[in-house]
Formats: sequence, C-alpha cells, structure tokens
Amino acid sequence: MGRVDKGLQPFRGATMAAHVLRRLAPQVAGVTINANRNLEAYAALGVPVLPDELTGFEGPLAGLQTGLRHCPTELMVTAPCDSPFLPQDLVQRLREALLAQEADLALAVTMEADEGGTAHKQPHPVFCLVRRSALPHLEAYLAGGGRRMDGWHKAIKVAEVLFNDAAAFRNINTLAELQQEEVGRGEPTLQDVVGCLSGYDPHAVPVSQAQHIIREFIQPVRAVEKLALRAALGRVLAADIVSPISVPAHDNSAMDGFAFAGDGLDGDHPTTLAVIGTVYAGRPSTIVPGPGQCVRIMTGGVMPPGCDTVLPQELAAGITEDSVTVSPRTVRTGDNRRFKGEDLLEGSPALQAGKIVRPADLGLLASLGIAEVPVRRRLRVAFFSTGDELRSIGEPLDQGCVYDSNRYTLHGMLTRLGVDIVDMGIVKDDPAALEAALRDACESADAIITSGGVSVGAADYTKEIMATLGDVTFWTIGMRPGRPMAFGKIRSNGHSAFLFGLPGNPVAVMVTFYFFARHALLRMMGARQVDDLLVQARSFAPIRKKPGRTEYQRGILTVAADGTREVRITGAQGSGILRSMAEANCMVVLPDHQGNVAAGDLVDVLLFEGLV
Ligand code: AMP
Ligand code: MG
Repeated sequence: MGRVDKGLQPFRGATMAAHVLRRLAPQVAGVTINANRNLEAYAALGVPVLPDELTGFEGPLAGLQTGLRHCPTELMVTAPCDSPFLPQDLVQRLREALLAQEADLALAVTMEADEGGTAHKQPHPVFCLVRRSALPHLEAYLAGGGRRMDGWHKAIKVAEVLFNDAAAFRNINTLAELQQEEVGRGEPTLQDVVGCLSGYDPHAVPVSQAQHIIREFIQPVRAVEKLALRAALGRVLAADIVSPISVPAHDNSAMDGFAFAGDGLDGDHPTTLAVIGTVYAGRPSTIVPGPGQCVRIMTGGVMPPGCDTVLPQELAAGITEDSVTVSPRTVRTGDNRRFKGEDLLEGSPALQAGKIVRPADLGLLASLGIAEVPVRRRLRVAFFSTGDELRSIGEPLDQGCVYDSNRYTLHGMLTRLGVDIVDMGIVKDDPAALEAALRDACESADAIITSGGVSVGAADYTKEIMATLGDVTFWTIGMRPGRPMAFGKIRSNGHSAFLFGLPGNPVAVMVTFYFFARHALLRMMGARQVDDLLVQARSFAPIRKKPGRTEYQRGILTVAADGTREVRITGAQGSGILRSMAEANCMVVLPDHQGNVAAGDLVDVLLFEGLV
C-alpha cells in the first residue's frame, strides 16, 4: 500500500492489525507483531513488537527470521497484518498436519480454478506454522542471499494444508480496496433504494423495477489479484490495460509481393521495377530501394524506407529473377501496407476495467507482451434447495416426492458464469435447519441462491427466517414464470451476503436466475457491460399474451428458408416443465406492454448460447 502502514489502517471499527490479532490470539499462546515502522502504534495493541533484525530488506522473510529468533515456544505461526479474514482454525489445522507429517513447516494452500475449470494449488507461504528448530536453515538461506518467502523450503520438510475458503486468505492490498471495504459499511439499505421509486409495491413489482432495485443494491467485490494471462480467461479486468507498445511495431506488408513507392508507377503504362533484395517477416533488413526499384517482401515484413505500397505477387504482370512488371491500376499508393500502431498505439487503452476476458482479449494482451493481468477475485456463490418433498439423486423416490433438479440447473448456470460454487444440498422446510444453512452460506460466500419456499405455502418458513437474518424483501414480480422472489442481504457473525430467494418451480428458477440473479452476480464480479443482447425474430405461430406482465417463453430459433430468423415456442409452458427448457435454444421475451402476438410478428429473443 505504498508508504501507508497497512496494519494500522482503520477497518471495520478497528485497525486491520487489531482484526488479525483478534482472530489469531485465541488460536495461540501469545502474539508478537513484527513491524519496521510505527512501532509505538503497534505496541498500543498490547502485544510485544519486534522490528526486523536483517538490514536492507523488508520482505516477510526478515520478519520470520526475527520471530523465530525470539519465539519462546517450539512452534511459531505467521499471518500478515492485512489478512483480517484469516481462518479461525488456521493454527489447529496447520499444527495437526505438521505433527502428523513430522514436518518442519506447514503452510496453507487453497485450490483455485483456472480456465476450463481445472483446479490448481495456490500456496500461501505467509500463513505458515514453523518449528523453531528450522531457524538454522532459514539463517543459512538468508546468509546466502536468498530472500524469497518459500525459497528456503527446499532445505526443510514442508506440509501443505488445504483450506476450502480461499477468501479467508484474502489480503487488502490497496487503499482504494480498503476504502471500498469501509464504504461497504455505509451501503444503502433496501429502503434507501426503493424510497427513490414512485409507486413501488412489493406485491406488484414490474420486471424492470426489480432489476433496477437489484442493480442499485448490489456491491461488487473489490479485491484484486494478478493472474497469469491464460488463467484470466472469463475473469473480470480490475484495471484498464494500457498498451505498452505499438502493434504492429512497424509499417509492414499485408501480402507476399513487392514493395515500392507508389508514386513511381506509371498511371497509363506497365512499370518494370528492379528487384534489389528480399525482406522476410521478422528478419531485419537494410535494403532501401531507390527510384525504379523495389523489394520482394513477405507478409509481415517491415516496409523499407520510402516504400508505401505492396503489389501482391499474384497481381504482377510479369516476374523475372530480378524484376517485376506492374500493370497500370492494379494497385493504388498505400495498398496492402499495414501501419505501425494500426491495431494498438503505444499508450492507448487496449482493454477497459470491467471487461470479461474473452479469447480475443487473451490474444490481444499476448500481442502486447503482457504476461500478468489484474482481475477481480472470483465470486463465491452458495446455493441450496428447500423442500421436504425433495430427494437427491441416488435416494429412493418416496410417495409424493421429486428429485431435486434445481441444484443441477443452478450448478450449470453458475459454473458457466465462472464463479466458485458451494453446493449446500437440500434443506428441509424446518426453521432451525433453514437458519443454520443460511448462516453457513452467509459466512462462506458472497452471494446465496436458494430455491423454493418463497411463495405462500404453509410449510414455507424460508421467508420468515430470511427476514430475521437481514434486509430482505419479498416480491411478487409481474412476470411469468417466476412471480415470487426474495432479494436482499443477510448477515451472520460479522459476514454478509446478498441473497436471491428464487421460486421452487424448475423453469421459474432458470428464468429468475437468467433475468435477475445473473446480472447481479456479473455486477458483483465487477463486470461493466451486463446487458442482454436481444435479437428479433419472426414468430412462427400466434402467442397468447396478457399485457401488464413480462412473459418468458421457451423458444427454438431457426433460420427459415428465406434466410430470416424464425422462432417457435416449445410446447407447454408450465413453470414446472423443464423438458421445454431443455428443448429450447432461446427465450422469447414478451415485455409488459405486449399483447397477443400474431404469426409473423417480430418478437425479442435471447439466445442461450453464443460465441464467447
Ligand atoms: P415452492 O416454491 O417451495 O412451493 O415450490 C414450488 C414447486 O417447485 C413445488 O412443486 C416443488 O416441489 C417444486 N420444487 C421446489 N424445489 C425444487 C427442486 N429443487 N427441484 C425440483 N422441483 C422443485
Ligand atoms: Mg417448497
């Protein structure tokens, strides 16, 4: 954080260091702070403070050395002063592994998914438990000039301990992030948001109003991490990327052919030019053609000084070993030349913060030589199904029961969105179980998605419990399917999470996810452009539609024989009929004002798939 002392920054009513202390102290016999500045301020926290003993280096390894030299116990654990969320079982779990594996040091690792969903291990060497007896190895490593936190691990036995909650190892890196975390405390209530709306009635909320309230209430996650280029696929850029170079770096040829000065051509008669050499792509050349001369040039070859035009070789009127003949009007001056910086000019913005990184962006960043990309941290979304009638796959289907399908559609939709998911299973219609599940979800995720229990059923305690845990509103939305929905933010033990209580019917779950939760989650991920791209298509048949509500019908979009887009509805549209969703490749969106649709009328369609 530049010259700012992170540990002393105010955070949620105390300093960051105080938060770390509060979380760490119950896990250990005693805490000592290692700091090189503001020692008195740290001492005010009531624990001993030790400055580094290694001079000329302020990295974490110097602190580790100082700590081990003074540690009165056999074991010492370290945690950075900017990690206010460190796990409450950190020490216990590290210790168990250290002892079981007879290791010298145990460190925390988390699994992080990279592109394609493959998980890789992320070690957190600053969260480690180490034996005092390992000190000589550390001293030797430092004496040899080593400074990397894990550089000395080769000389000792290391145990890795997998923690599930990557967010617990989050540190707050910039003042801006910290301020955002702080601002988060003063965030609006739902009442603040709906107070600005005229004619708001939770029992009759138009789709656009519900979307507006969600958009206003949602807060993006702030934490940023740097990822290797490939791993950034699907993630959201946390900063603008400014091009460090021009692409291409030189004027170059777009074709295999002959390069020359265009004004040397005769406008009415063939011109024969002497070929004085060949320019290959990527090979420097010093050839400078004069009047009446040209060079043979390959695609990507740097244009020699004075040359501004390329004649593609297939357009040459005649080619000999050392000359080429150009017919009049086959090329104009400037043809087939790519300009320096035509793709991107040095210093110009290449990509904007808030952009979801797509394959073309990876290529673009690679073309700029950028190896690491700042992205927002991955969002964590917990979800569960509610209902006594639900059974999991593998269980017998008792009388009157149904298999839980919502968790599977949610799994699919969330995975495609690129968030970390926490599948919490089925929760019975039981107040205590619902409260425990909601609290658990709240403490481990940024957002919670539930299905079922938000309509008016007698055994639906979900609403009641949600309301007691935070700022939650219950809507009847002017839409079909998916009228009931809960939205808000709940809190538990100092954590908070946005809550989307989706209806229980399988199609309603998908529709409310796609048209409400998805946008909100994208915004939480830091994405800027989250609008749906609707296209228009001709309706194959009439569609009955009542004005005054938005209807989402499942459709199959095809290209008709005359080349126009045509959409058909996939049979019965009941909100429990998932088959019609599976058959569909799009949703037909019929807005509030729309009445009956006649065959041949244009309707709005949202495609399920697209090139991404
Ligand atoms: P509810 O909103 O809880 O009254 O549920 C509405 C309907 O959706 C009921 O018929 C439920 O059985 C059904 N339902 C609720 N949750 C699920 C689920 N996870 N999978 C399949 N059907 C469900
Ligand atoms: Mg239910």
